[in-house]
Amino acid sequence: SPIIVWFRKDLRTDDNRALASAVETGRPVIPLYIREDNSETGPLGEAQAWWLHHSLTALSAQIETCGSRLILLSGEAETVLRQIIKDTGASAVFWNRRYDPAGIKVDTKLKEVLSKDGLETASFAGALMHEPSRVKTKTGGPYRVYTPFWRAIEAGGEPPEPVDAPEKLPAPKTFPRSEKLNDWGLLPKLEWAADFSRRWEPGEASAREKLEDFTDGTIDGYRESRERTWEAGTSRLSPHLAMGEISPARIWHATRGLSKADSADVITFRKELVWREFAYHLLFHNPDMPTESLNRKYDKLGWTNGDDDFDRWKTGMTGFPIVDAGMRELWRFGTMHNRVRMIVGSFLVKDLLIDWRRGERWFRDTLVDADPASNAMNWQWVAGCGADASPFFRVFNPITQGEKFDTDGLYVREHVPELADMPSDWIHHPFEAPSAVLAKAGVTLGETYPKPIVDHAKARDRALAAYRNIKDAA
Ligand code: FAD
Repeated sequence: SPIIVWFRKDLRTDDNRALASAVETGRPVIPLYIREDNSETGPLGEAQAWWLHHSLTALSAQIETCGSRLILLSGEAETVLRQIIKDTGASAVFWNRRYDPAGIKVDTKLKEVLSKDGLETASFAGALMHEPSRVKTKTGGPYRVYTPFWRAIEAGGEPPEPVDAPEKLPAPKTFPRSEKLNDWGLLPKLEWAADFSRRWEPGEASAREKLEDFTDGTIDGYRESRERTWEAGTSRLSPHLAMGEISPARIWHATRGLSKADSADVITFRKELVWREFAYHLLFHNPDMPTESLNRKYDKLGWTNGDDDFDRWKTGMTGFPIVDAGMRELWRFGTMHNRVRMIVGSFLVKDLLIDWRRGERWFRDTLVDADPASNAMNWQWVAGCGADASPFFRVFNPITQGEKFDTDGLYVREHVPELADMPSDWIHHPFEAPSAVLAKAGVTLGETYPKPIVDHAKARDRALAAYRNIKDAA
């Protein structure tokens, strides 16, 4: 009897152990994607819904080339699975494990209820290189600091070798009914995602191409190029990883024995992949990380939560060019350079004293790589309230950060076109530029480009005072 292979955030045929193991049995396979009712386990936000639409289209086409069909159904997972079992006589469900708290809850219950009815369930690893429950400190507890976590990963040896995609998927006698992807309305109603396809191509084929481009070229010099905001100096694999179109083990092994790259570049890159593992390790052991500060004392920080300031931040109208460029890149392309994510995060939390959770939610809705573990961990890092976080008193200066990481202003010029003609010396602080410089560049502050919404030096003092209050009270 057939085996249902339930795809979730693992929209790939390559290095997919649930799929490969089902095919190995020689039994017919029913590939299934469920649009789950539980919003926590579904697409995270609008940007990722766009991605999901295109990713499912790509997976569907790939499965067809293997002689099968991807079934799409919506509803509560147990109800959907039971219906298919009834209609097709399937007797087993295989899936790859997920590690977000809501997903774990659904899967644990399913395993229990289906097994009780004599159905076979099997779950496999693949979303991560190392199971979050297995990496343990010497005393047997979870890690809270990255460096010892990395050392433990290094000492633990190579992650498992990836398994290749099956060429053929044995089809069942009859396929269950399927819904139509277009009826799911995943694409945004407004045209705001129009530029996404200029930057991105969802799907596993494109993920593999990106990996090849990266290992063939970009990885050479990655240690430095990853900090360049104005060019593609990183792998740009994060949205593919977030939707599971490529496995981290596949990426890890592709960076082995590269003649192109200096070993220090490879190690730096692998450390980034392990930050993703660390984020899941933290989430696994702290399931409320997306909504609660790991260090609870920060909840007493007097957040101002100014709605007007928050709107200006979201729309890239703060008057600080590097912040505005980042927020506009996010809106337009569903992504933002890692360095700039840190700058805009620090600006929101420290300069505007707005609760990090509001920033986390905005990112969740607008990033194509939105990920419950990485997003929450990084926001808590930026806000200083997380495990192994940047100390609260380290307040990023948006002017010097801009000058350091976008020296010639290329990133700002691309995303904030009204400042395109500002000379590099002034582009990161137009509000301090002589009026002749502004006039020559066609900039009128308060009209063509906003005046700064805060005085950074004063905002910094305000943040430090708020921090001292909770520190003294603790
Ligand atoms: P590369 O430099 O090529 O790195 C390779 C891979 O390593 C990435 O694809 C990613 O999976 C992983 N990685 C790199 N940096 C980090 C990091 N700091 N934390 C965790 N994993 C990392 N990343 C997400 O995938 N989803 C998010 O929702 C997310 N939210 C963030 C929010 C904030 C406030 C900050 C500061 C960072 C966030 N990041 C998030 C981390 C990082 O910005 C992105 O992973 C990175 O920009 C992706 O680009 P890349 O694939 O070219 O990275």
